[in-house]
Amino acid sequence: RAYNFNAGPAALPLQVLERAQAEFVDFRNSGMSIMEMSHRGKVYEEVHNEAESRLLSLLGGGKGYKVLFLQGGASTQFAMLPMNLLSEGKVASYVHSGSWADKAIKEAKLIGQTNVVATSEANKFMSIPDLSNIQLSDDTAYLHVTSNETIEGTQYQQFPDTGNIPLIGDMSSDILSRQFDLNQFGLIYAGAQKNLGPSGVTVVIAREELINNSPKNIPTMLRYNTHSSNNSLYNTPPAFSVYMVNEVLKWVEEQGALEGIEKINRKKAQLIYDTIDNSGGFYRGPVEAGSRSIMNITFRLTSEELENQFIKESELEGFVGLKGHRSVGGLRASIYNAVPYESCKALADFMSHFQKTHG
Ligand code: PLP
Repeated sequence: RAYNFNAGPAALPLQVLERAQAEFVDFRNSGMSIMEMSHRGKVYEEVHNEAESRLLSLLGGGKGYKVLFLQGGASTQFAMLPMNLLSEGKVASYVHSGSWADKAIKEAKLIGQTNVVATSEANKFMSIPDLSNIQLSDDTAYLHVTSNETIEGTQYQQFPDTGNIPLIGDMSSDILSRQFDLNQFGLIYAGAQKNLGPSGVTVVIAREELINNSPKNIPTMLRYNTHSSNNSLYNTPPAFSVYMVNEVLKWVEEQGALEGIEKINRKKAQLIYDTIDNSGGFYRGPVEAGSRSIMNITFRLTSEELENQFIKESELEGFVGLKGHRSVGGLRASIYNAVPYESCKALADFMSHFQKTHG
C-alpha cells in the first residue's frame, strides 16, 4: 500500500477495505451486493440505522441530536445551513479562519445577512482567530466555525461558548479525530471523505429542535426537516457510502473510540512537527504553534525548487499527496485517522534523509 497523505478523498483503514471486499458481492448471504439492494429493504435499513446510532454513541450519546446522511458534500451545507437557519431579521455570524471558512461565508452572503465577527486574515490565516472577546448581538442566528482548516493546516484547540446562540461547526477535516463536547454545538457537518468513509455522503448532526422547522419556501431536498422526518430516506441515499461509514465507525470503536484515536493522532502529529522543529530551519512550519492542526501538517522548504524536488523524490519512495494545496503552495501531510503511525514514521525518516542529502 502507498504511504497515502492525500487531503481528501483520503486513506481508508486497510481492515475496512478488506472487510468490504469480503462482502462486496454477496452481502450477508443475500445473494446481492449492498449496492444492488432496495434502500427500503430490511437489510439496508439495518446498516443505515446502525451507522446513525454508532456515530451518536461515538460522540457521547448525542441525546437530543439527530444524524442526517445527505449528498452534495460539505459545500452544499455552506448554502443549506443559512437557507434553513438564517431567517429574515437575523444575522449569521462567521469566524473567518481561512480558505474553507471563506467559502462558507460567501455562500451565506448569497442567502442573507452575514457578519464576520473574527478573522485571522492579518496573519494570512496562519492561526485560528482569538475568540476570547467575541461579541454576538441578540439577533444572531448562529455562529459558524471551521474546526480545522484543511488547506492552511490550522485547528481550533477549544471552541467558544456561545450560550443560547447555536454554534455550528464545519468539521469536514477533523470529525472523529479527537474528543470534543457535542453539546456545545447546535449542528456540525462533514463530508465523509477524510475521516468517515468514501465521498458521496455528507453527515449532519444537529440538535433536533434546530432542524425541525425549516422554512417552507425552500426546495424540499434542501430542507433539513425533509431528511430528519424521513430518517434520511426521503430519496435514494448513497447506500454504499453509508455502509462504508458504518464499517469505518466499527474500526474507530476498535481503536479505542475517540480517546484511543486522539492518542494515536497526537503521537503521529508530534512525530512530524518534531521533525520540522528539529531541522534547524531546513523545514519551516508556518502555522502559529497554538493553532497547529493534528490532521493537516503544512510545511515549507527554503525554496520552491527544493519543494518540487521533495515531491519528486518522495513520490519515488512511495509517498502520495504531499504537495500543498495549489492556492497556498508548499507541502502538506494530511494524517487523518486511517493514516497509520508507520506511514508517519516513514515520512519523518524520509524528511530527515532528504535534509541530509539537500541540507
Ligand atoms: N470544508 C472543509 C473544511 C473541507 O476540507 C472541505 C473539503 O476539503 C470542504 C468543506 C468541502 O467538502 P466537499 O468536497 O465535501 O464539498
